Amino acid sequence: MRLSQYFLPLLRDVPKEAEIVSHRLMLRAGLIRQSSAGIYTWLPLGTRVLRNIEQIVREEQDRAGAIELLMPTIQSADLWRESGRYDDYGAEMLRIQDRHERDMLYGPTNEELITAIFRDAVKSYKELPRILYHIQWKFRDEIRPRFGVMRGREFLMKDSYSFDLDKEAAEKSYNKMFVAYLRTFARMGLHAVPMRAETGPIGGDLSHEFIILADTGESQVYCHKDLVEMPAPPADLDYAGDLTEYVHQRTALYAATDDVHDPKRFEQEVPADKRLSARGIEVGQVFYFGTKYSEAMGARVQGPDGDLVTVEMGSYGVGVSRLLGAIIEASHDEAGIIWPQAVAPFDVGLINLKAGDKDTDAACEDLYAKLQAAGLEILYDDTDDRAGAKFAAMDLIGLPWQLVVGPKGLKAGEIEVKERATGARHSLTFDASLNMLVDKAEQAKREAA
Ligand code: ATP
Ligand code: MG
Repeated sequence: MRLSQYFLPLLRDVPKEAEIVSHRLMLRAGLIRQSSAGIYTWLPLGTRVLRNIEQIVREEQDRAGAIELLMPTIQSADLWRESGRYDDYGAEMLRIQDRHERDMLYGPTNEELITAIFRDAVKSYKELPRILYHIQWKFRDEIRPRFGVMRGREFLMKDSYSFDLDKEAAEKSYNKMFVAYLRTFARMGLHAVPMRAETGPIGGDLSHEFIILADTGESQVYCHKDLVEMPAPPADLDYAGDLTEYVHQRTALYAATDDVHDPKRFEQEVPADKRLSARGIEVGQVFYFGTKYSEAMGARVQGPDGDLVTVEMGSYGVGVSRLLGAIIEASHDEAGIIWPQAVAPFDVGLINLKAGDKDTDAACEDLYAKLQAAGLEILYDDTDDRAGAKFAAMDLIGLPWQLVVGPKGLKAGEIEVKERATGARHSLTFDASLNMLVDKAEQAKREAA
């Protein structure tokens, strides 16, 4: 993409309401623009990151055997009357009437709708287990939308729903999503810690929140320090195998959100020098809630012996749009965002230091074409802005690599490659710079696979 033909409205002055760094950087770097309280337009750069995050979430759901569909944002109130949640959900639910005065709502979550879809389609235990998911916008009329996309009113969520014949099978589904979540967040460069959590309006008796530790997080959490930098699940951990032991290991040390925290147990189970009390960002939550919805809505299948069995369910959410904020909170410096390569809007920022100079233009065009041919995504700053402004903008938007091409360097046969995360600079020949970036991109792809 040529910057001269792109749409990248950077912002110099950030509104005072932007209290936390990720919110300020998302506004400054032209990722989002507020349209009304807690509701945002995703500008082109933000849209690219959102799509990348969404794609990682999707790939890891698919790998775990979940099946994608797409449910609507607008739902009928009648379904929610069946489960009894229409009245319970309260003011967070945006209620709408259509022209026939039928009660509708903008879905804050989808347990009712998916239970109805399942109930109407599946009649036999032979079609179990199933995990269905979608990635769709949700609306919750949050009392205090704030921190940008961290607590929006309209936000993008991945929500999965599992259907099983009995509790034991349901736990297997829960474990699959648990492992998939660890893999998902690790691919984005995040250390997410699963913590025991309250089930809230979703209901049920088993739940974990996946927490990114950050001072700006809204949740107060307590855990054993050794949990903070645990590695991602090993590559040979197979979804077809038994995940019980692995999940057990990952939940053995104390970790709890404020709602379920037990100070006495914390002191008994965790040595004083290992006790961590911190703030965190909830990026995902998994719930097992048994027959709460299937019972109320009559989702039953014929079991092996012919009896009707009420299915066991769980639901599993990832805050796709919140993740942008969480990643930035975890990865930035004074100059701006530092995107992990896996979610970056472009792989490389190519900076032409003297647009209009014949040789510089030619070298840039050549690099631009060859890098794209190698499968990299390039943002080519071909504008005639000052060098200083170009550097500042590139640092701000945080692409993993910068390629700096100017007449002086070219004369010496050199191009500068800068790694955004470390600030390390390398002066390389044209071919060496090309090879280095292609290698790095391939390495990143291998790590993701
Ligand atoms: P919170 O406690 O932060 O209000 P929640 O527990 O109500 O969230 P869930 O129902 O578990 O949210 O939704 C699944 C995921 O969706 C959450 O883990 C979070 O990442 C994301 N999410 C929830 N509410 C919002 C919001 N208002 N803005 C952005 N993301 C959200
Ligand atoms: Mg939650």
